[in-house]
Amino acid sequence: MEQLYLLWMWKNMLNIDILETQSWVWAKLRKSLSSNRVVHAYLFQGPTGSGKEQSASLLAATLNCHTPIDDIACRTCNSCIKFLNGNHPNVQTVVPEGATIKLHQIKEVKRQVSLRRVEQGHLVVIFHNAEKMTSEAANSLLKLLEEPPAGTVFILTAENSFALLSTIVSRCQKLIFKSVPPIKLASKLAEESGIDLRLAEYILQLSKGDKDSAVELIEEGILELRRQLLDIVANIKNLNASELLFLAEDWGKGDPELVLDLLLAWYRDLEVWNKTGADNLLINIDRFDLINQNDDGKEEIAQILDMLIDAQQALTRNANKQITMENLLLKWARVYN
Ligand SMILES: [Zn+2]
Repeated sequence: MEQLYLLWMWKNMLNIDILETQSWVWAKLRKSLSSNRVVHAYLFQGPTGSGKEQSASLLAATLNCHTPIDDIACRTCNSCIKFLNGNHPNVQTVVPEGATIKLHQIKEVKRQVSLRRVEQGHLVVIFHNAEKMTSEAANSLLKLLEEPPAGTVFILTAENSFALLSTIVSRCQKLIFKSVPPIKLASKLAEESGIDLRLAEYILQLSKGDKDSAVELIEEGILELRRQLLDIVANIKNLNASELLFLAEDWGKGDPELVLDLLLAWYRDLEVWNKTGADNLLINIDRFDLINQNDDGKEEIAQILDMLIDAQQALTRNANKQITMENLLLKWARVYN
């Protein structure tokens, strides 16, 4: 079910909550920063939502900050601003292309690393989901780690290191991120955003436990969007073809990925509730009333989930958004016939 959650958005946000939630890791990092003993490769290992990606960003920014405060990026200097704008020339991020990190991606990193002369700070290359490297990619990275270019810091993030080459792991300083109790993050989010605790839990689940993404979703009006979507799908069997096409156009022009994520989370909940009756597994727990009242059959729910996943996959293959939404909605209306 993991893939059904809102797609993780890689952002160059500089979250300093992690200094508190991962205080042990950051105590170690700060010590090497203050004594100028930063190593050339780190492995940040920990579960989803533990802040390893944010820590990688914060370390990258800190290594390039002109005026760090207490050995942490100031978030106001020229370098930090460039970083926050996502266009810092010294920072590169590699994420899986589809299911894996591929050889050509590592080759591109090698090319960049060999071309770049770092005038100030460090060149930082971050590999997210490093465990998803193909073996060719991993072998190629290993060579780079064996002869690390001066002034370059590699940061690998991974949920576990078993899937990584042991020779890669042994070349990295490994820092273990402990899982942050979701309730702790949720109560913080609820307090800061002035929303109900259960809502905060819901939005955190949608954002895979990342508080910054959760705040952004709230600011973008995600709750209102979900309310509108639930109204629409409750009424979908009554829409005629031209109304469906109008709706498809509307979804296609908006943010169809987000629409699909919200609907997937919703139908995933209906399925989970039908199968397990366990409310602690629900994402949309704040709308438990609606989940409990829903009278869609198991077959219908399974069909809708399949259609939503198909549509999501079509969009990741760059299919036309409006046509994808048209196909989805026309099929959807037929589910009930
Ligand atoms: Zn700075």
